[in-house]
Amino acid sequence: MTARTSYIGRFAPSPTGPLHIGSLVAAMASYLDAKVHHGQWLVRIEDVDVGRNVPGADEHILASLRRCGMHWDGEVTWQTQRYTLYQQAMEQLGDLVYPCGCSRREIADSQLNLTGQQAQALIYPGICRDGLAPGKVGRALRLKVPQTPHCVLSFEDRWAGHYSQDLTAEVGDFVLHRADGYWAYQLAVVVDDGAQGITDIVRGADLLDSTPRQLYLQQVLGLPQPTYLHVPVVVNDVGEKLSKQTGAQAFDTGADPQVLLRDAMLPAARFLSLDIQAETIDAFWRDATPAWAQLLQTLPRQP
Ligand code: GLU
Repeated sequence: MTARTSYIGRFAPSPTGPLHIGSLVAAMASYLDAKVHHGQWLVRIEDVDVGRNVPGADEHILASLRRCGMHWDGEVTWQTQRYTLYQQAMEQLGDLVYPCGCSRREIADSQLNLTGQQAQALIYPGICRDGLAPGKVGRALRLKVPQTPHCVLSFEDRWAGHYSQDLTAEVGDFVLHRADGYWAYQLAVVVDDGAQGITDIVRGADLLDSTPRQLYLQQVLGLPQPTYLHVPVVVNDVGEKLSKQTGAQAFDTGADPQVLLRDAMLPAARFLSLDIQAETIDAFWRDATPAWAQLLQTLPRQP
């Protein structure tokens, strides 16, 4: 593997609960990828969806990362301290952004003829694109997605291979500032990745279908496109992504390092197909880094 001095990666947890095996997998993969590339690894707390934040979860996550021997470069950043950057990006987008006064119900009603996944995703049909109807109040701000020709975006995911999405047909104009007053994840993540000079994004595959929205935002904001690697997500017995809500076991930050290794780090590594037998946390990282480099040789894994 050729060393790239310019690699900047990141782990960007939402503080909706403590670290658990599912989020550890994403943290571990992004950390290992940064190590293998002799890069920097930043940690950014994505607390922009303020209503979902759990008090103290950010510090709990940081303590768990430290306990596992994952040390970040530079200062941790919190998205709630970066609103000015999001506002500036919004101003830069100018006429590409418009106020939308539609409720979820109105959007759903406008697509009663759609079925399956298309309908579930609530594709915005552009009701307010050419101006708010009289009496309608702007609640959210949406970004215009080109209509003709359709905006089709593709990229090569380092894990999953080729990925393509017709943003016009499958997503529609998407929200950058939410009706509840918060900045939307899609805008915040793109602005932050750009501002922090992130070159390589490693995260869970649940965000694969958000990536084309992020590529589009990078294009309209004139930001460089990072590379992406989406690792499979850990699911529970009924196939739901593991989270606090779906029964993930939180880390005990006071746990003995042996227990941490046995119950969290080794299972997370196994999930990533890394065969590691280490008995200490230091030995774990010594073995995991070359194991990750070897795993990279087997990618992408086409489904
Ligand atoms: N904050 C997101 C999460 O915790 C991750 C976002 C990202 O890595 O782009 O799921």
